Amino acid sequence: MEKYPIEKIRNIGFIAHIDAGKTTTTERVLYYTGLTHKIGNIDEGTTVMDWMAQERERGITITSAATTCFWKPTYRQDDSWTCRINIIDTPGHIDFTAEVQRSLRILDGAVVIFDGVAGVEPQSETVWHQADKYNVPRMCFINKMDRMGASFERSLESIKERLTPHAVPINIPIGAEDKFEGVIDLIQMKAVYFEGDSGEKVVMKEIPSALQEEARKWREQLLEKIAEQDEKLLERYLENQEIQEEEIRKVLREATIKGNIVPVLCGASFRNKGVQPLLDAIVEYLPSPQDLPPVQGIHPKTGETVVRKPDVNEPFSALVFKVAVDPYVGTLTYFRVYSGSFKKGSYIYNATKNIQERVGRLIRMHANHREEIEEIKAGDIAATVGLKDTSTGDTLCDPNNPIILEKITFPEPVISMKIEPETKADQEKMSLVLKKLSEEDPTFKVKTDPETMETIISGMGELHLDIITDRMKREFNVNVKTGKPQVAYKETIKKTVESEGKYIRQSGGRGQYGHVWIRIEPLERGKGFEFINKIKGGVIPDEFIPAVEKGVKEAMEKGVLAGYPVTDVRVTLYDGSFHEVDSSDFAFKIAGSIAFQEGAKRAGLVLLEPIMKVEVIVPEKFLGDVVGDLSAKRGKILEMKERGMMKVIDAFVPLAEMFGYATKLRSMTEGRGNFTMQFDHYEEVPQNVTKQIINKE
Ligand code: GDP
Repeated sequence: MEKYPIEKIRNIGFIAHIDAGKTTTTERVLYYTGLTHKIGNIDEGTTVMDWMAQERERGITITSAATTCFWKPTYRQDDSWTCRINIIDTPGHIDFTAEVQRSLRILDGAVVIFDGVAGVEPQSETVWHQADKYNVPRMCFINKMDRMGASFERSLESIKERLTPHAVPINIPIGAEDKFEGVIDLIQMKAVYFEGDSGEKVVMKEIPSALQEEARKWREQLLEKIAEQDEKLLERYLENQEIQEEEIRKVLREATIKGNIVPVLCGASFRNKGVQPLLDAIVEYLPSPQDLPPVQGIHPKTGETVVRKPDVNEPFSALVFKVAVDPYVGTLTYFRVYSGSFKKGSYIYNATKNIQERVGRLIRMHANHREEIEEIKAGDIAATVGLKDTSTGDTLCDPNNPIILEKITFPEPVISMKIEPETKADQEKMSLVLKKLSEEDPTFKVKTDPETMETIISGMGELHLDIITDRMKREFNVNVKTGKPQVAYKETIKKTVESEGKYIRQSGGRGQYGHVWIRIEPLERGKGFEFINKIKGGVIPDEFIPAVEKGVKEAMEKGVLAGYPVTDVRVTLYDGSFHEVDSSDFAFKIAGSIAFQEGAKRAGLVLLEPIMKVEVIVPEKFLGDVVGDLSAKRGKILEMKERGMMKVIDAFVPLAEMFGYATKLRSMTEGRGNFTMQFDHYEEVPQNVTKQIINKE
């Protein structure tokens, strides 16, 4: 018998506003689940989860690793209740949309953590709405009940008002601030205290008489909400019949998985209070992989929709959700298995890349050790070491039953900046480390400016690049200087032209002879570059053709109007001439380059700018101001809709106008507005704006 069959697995994430206590709570969870032997204290910098030094400093989590632990609800005796909980580390910053979305996709349930003083904060709204998009069942944990000014009721109200009317407490605090002592379990109707040096002993007592009335009131609310889920139950409830604990739990579980109820709990992780009941609730109410619908993907050859049930007997399929370059272990590839099973030592088929890779080791990450495992099964999460060509978002599967689970189009990097080593010693390591980092993160790119030979890095936002340079220092010990971040503009043409390029030097020594005629035509937006060879009768020998293409490409990279790469053009080579002795690759490359530069100047050059798909979420009363501001930013409003209690505005806005928007939106909306953005497409820059950009050069 399998010890942890699929119904005993919980893949969950803790999501929160920065500082709400995600790290502390995760750590206590790992401690109580028996895997961390010493309580780390984040203020002293010894966390287990946040192994990247800089994350501690910034207080944000940007990795998406998964850690395994085990738990049996405190009030259950039978060991068959023990579940394997895989905790998926979710990043919280909007600059990492691809990562946030992927981590939401691979987890089955989430615990949203709030600060008991602040209640719902802007970022908790952002993640909440993202979780809505992916239908992630969740519950709430109102943390920091011990802090001065903490209020359970006020925090609950803010959750109900701003996030969901379905929130309902399953436990309430005993006392608050420095008098916060424990919680009252509204299902068992017992007071729960946390004794021992680090709150590890869970002690149940009678509810203090002063709180009995209040506890009854909250329990009534809970029962009413439970009864609403089922007609028969409602009848019995209205007839004042007893509803059993097990029945409450069963209905609560179903309703939580459907998203009809969002259970709310409270505690103070830092004071070791309330964490075990949270673990109990994770096991009791959040779904197992089996409780969720089958995954859908496409067949890589036929393009047909393929479905995989969360079942070990289905063909193997898994999604890679994180590739982490660990300076000590090498490349760790984390994946979530959706169906079937896989044994180490065999070959795995990467359907996204159409390659096979051998999996030598399968590893499960615990809080403080790695466990080598033989086999991994549907619903579970593991990592492997040493996959060379597999990246984040790839599907791994059975070669005989291929499926692609996610066709990810990674957003194009839209911000770039110059980067240079501080010393000679850093120089060598820099390019190596940059290459590694770009393999790990598909939204991070590195290139060399052909003109200045400077190294240019590009990514999704300022913070994204900031974190990368910081990691270079801390993890790889490479010191670098960076320039100011720039919008990644592009150039394109609007007219078709024909253009001649000649590079002929025939005085003294060996001569040079390259001569071409090309046609340059605009292509549809997003098509990039096409090169067509229409040379007939060998007017240019075949061997020199690639050199012409190379010359054209180099000229395109350099840009013609303002030094930005040219895109969306077709170049047709249709005529030219050569010299038996003097012609060379070099001469034809230069000729191609001259022909392109000269021709492009006459072809109606324009600048293209990245347009972001922006989603702004605001309370209704700020809608007018926010929409007005977006229009002033050259934004196009696409749609306005309601989500929960909020208004959602979808718009296209040029990236250049979005610098500093987080601060602006905050001040426009008393801190309640929220937004996410991601690259959507390139669009022509209006004439007047183009002039400003070129003049600034
Ligand atoms: P994260 O940014 O969400 O990961 O939050 P952390 O776990 O790093 O916590 C942020 C700060 O709040 C740290 O200084 C913690 O010590 C503190 N903190 C976390 N939980 C509690 C709590 O229950 N009570 C109090 N008073 N402070 C807490």
